[in-house]
Amino acid sequence: MTSHRLEDYPGFRTRSHDKKHLDRVPSGSRLFGALTFSGDVMLKRLPEDVYKQLQQTMHQGQPLDASVANIVASAMKEWAIEHGATHYTHWFQPLTGQTAEKHDAFLAPDGNGGAIEKFSGAQLIRGEPDASSFPSGGIRDTYEARGYTAWDATSPAFILTTPDTATLCIPTVFVSWTGEALDKKTPLLRSIQAVGEQAMRILRIFGTDKGVTQVTTTLGCEQEYFLIDKKLYEQRPDLQLCGRTLFGAPSPKDHQLDDHYFGAIPERVLAFMTEAERRLYELGVPVCTRHNEVAPGQYEVAPYFEGTNVAVDHQMILMHVLRQTARHHGFVCLLHEKPFAGVNGSGKHNNWSLTTDTGVNLLDPRDQTHTNMQFLVFLVGVIRAIDKHADLLRGAITNAGNDHRLGSNEAPPPIISIYLGAMLSDILDQIEEGGPQKTKRGGTIDLGAHILPQIPRHSGDRNRTSPFAFTGNKFEFRAVGSSTPVAWPNTVLNTIIAESLDDIATELEKRAGKNPTPRKLETAVKSVLKDAVKKHRRVVFDGDNYSEEWHQEAEERGLPCLRTTADALPCLKSKKALGLFNKYGVLNNRELRARVEVLFDQYITVMSIESETMIDMLRSYVLPAALRFQAELAEAATASQAAGIECPGTVEQLRQHVRHIEELQSAIANLKNVASRNNRSPEALARHIRDKVIPAMDAARRVADTIEQEVSDDLWPLPGYSEMMFSQT
Ligand code: ADP
Ligand code: MG
Repeated sequence: MTSHRLEDYPGFRTRSHDKKHLDRVPSGSRLFGALTFSGDVMLKRLPEDVYKQLQQTMHQGQPLDASVANIVASAMKEWAIEHGATHYTHWFQPLTGQTAEKHDAFLAPDGNGGAIEKFSGAQLIRGEPDASSFPSGGIRDTYEARGYTAWDATSPAFILTTPDTATLCIPTVFVSWTGEALDKKTPLLRSIQAVGEQAMRILRIFGTDKGVTQVTTTLGCEQEYFLIDKKLYEQRPDLQLCGRTLFGAPSPKDHQLDDHYFGAIPERVLAFMTEAERRLYELGVPVCTRHNEVAPGQYEVAPYFEGTNVAVDHQMILMHVLRQTARHHGFVCLLHEKPFAGVNGSGKHNNWSLTTDTGVNLLDPRDQTHTNMQFLVFLVGVIRAIDKHADLLRGAITNAGNDHRLGSNEAPPPIISIYLGAMLSDILDQIEEGGPQKTKRGGTIDLGAHILPQIPRHSGDRNRTSPFAFTGNKFEFRAVGSSTPVAWPNTVLNTIIAESLDDIATELEKRAGKNPTPRKLETAVKSVLKDAVKKHRRVVFDGDNYSEEWHQEAEERGLPCLRTTADALPCLKSKKALGLFNKYGVLNNRELRARVEVLFDQYITVMSIESETMIDMLRSYVLPAALRFQAELAEAATASQAAGIECPGTVEQLRQHVRHIEELQSAIANLKNVASRNNRSPEALARHIRDKVIPAMDAARRVADTIEQEVSDDLWPLPGYSEMMFSQT
């Protein structure tokens, strides 16, 4: 990326509340990555041999020598202090779903009334936070609370600023003293290695591995979010405690007119976006697109794709910056999957591909026959993995918020299927018949000398309804929820594809034999692909995923439809899952079971917070407003009758309103009853939530929304849907 100076960007104007922040970025420094310890900052500040060694650690995973670490630490400290940092922190991703940081000062007393600066190589490389308060799923008890953070040199350190502080953040992994993973990054790194190794085997079979030392995965995440006026947010305890509205009558206008999508961005929103983007640029997050999304108040930002490890960290930084910056502009950024019922929810399209370290995208169709065959092997490898482990992929993205999103209003359904587009589907047909010989569509395709047709890039149409779509040179996993840290979905994706490529490579080696002739290899590829396509084709679906017929058809095809978290989570600890993660060294059985336990616990806790908040708000906001309105109606009716005027309309309105109040009172009682905690196992509790608590919440919501529509506006204590969704100007 070309470097720019801040002042080169007239769009990035200084706002007064940014003034202090901007002072930290030395004028004249480059904008992109100005607050990261990377690129030319490293080059300038590290002795050449140290720089080289660090590069080797970063790119080839070689361990870092202690003396080198000391020099790096010292340079990093100098740089951070120059940018106003007073503290450093190991920055990691525990199983909470957030990032964690514990700040340590660079300064320590020198014993003579003064202070010395300290930050050694040892402090850079390893930290020892008290691990006992992080969820571990029972891996580590309080009495053995030791956990270590270890520097991940492959992800650049960065400086997080607030108007008053600056902190050096060092990306780390977090493991227990036994070496077991307590975070989301450790298994991610293992999974990237696993899938890379198997992809290398495929390249070796095709003889395309020359000069390639490594295959890794790439990732670009499109982030959808809502903005809501801060003043309105502060009036809704459900938004504050749960991140979503627990009730609210529909607005007469939402996105029926499709007038928000790609519409002109409101000025206040644009000011927010501009500041957020500038901060992200400084932190090395290469955001490149922004637009209005489908629902009123909904927006999207997407970065250029990067290596998965860095992209995953950048995704966490992006969510943090969006949240933080929104407040400067009087907004709150909602990253929940479904802040408003009945309108489009928010997702995080997870664009995934495989690339060699020589820069070849392995999911980009090529035009020579042998690489073309290789492309089809990778393509079919993915199809095979998704079909075999659709349940795990569904489990990887499940959470309380996504349960509301999947299967409603412009979100893919909970059935995992793949969209390929007409051209590739046609090629699959031919593979299945023993081909491919020719291609039906697209005049540009050369059939002559090539055994396999050339496949034009971007041959697929757009199908927004698919949860997992091939989009020209990458797969787009669209079922991922907007609040989800992407480390885990990518860990699962990488691992299932590692297994699939492993199986295909083994089969190819078996059928083609050692040093096969091109002809023999071709025959082997055709037969392996044919078998795989026959078996796994059922997961490919190019039609409308939103339709009822698809649910029916998917069932006939035997594809799993795991509607809720209670259905999807148990899959992650099935025998199949335990064997898979263990085989590829991604998570041992204890680590995987622990993770699933944490996910269950999080789901149950979120649902318990939601149901309690709902009870509380129904009692203290909705019911009092309804009773006040009842009194008003009663008073109006009595006054009218006292004046000798019959008012059957008002009396009927009162009667109906009282009936709704009665219904509300019994709905609250019922919800309170089913939501009370009991000592079931986490799995049984999740099922109880699915079968009893959620229906009780839905019932209470229905009547509360009806009451909202009948109570007079001046008595209603909460901002309504139309007010919240149309408050961006
Ligand atoms: P949309 O799906 O909205 O049309 P784009 O096609 O522009 O969006 O791309 C969406 C995202 O896909 C971007 O973040 C982009 O960087 C990412 N992307 C593009 N190529 C790859 C790749 N080879 N690997 C991973 N992500 C990629
Ligand atoms: Mg997309």
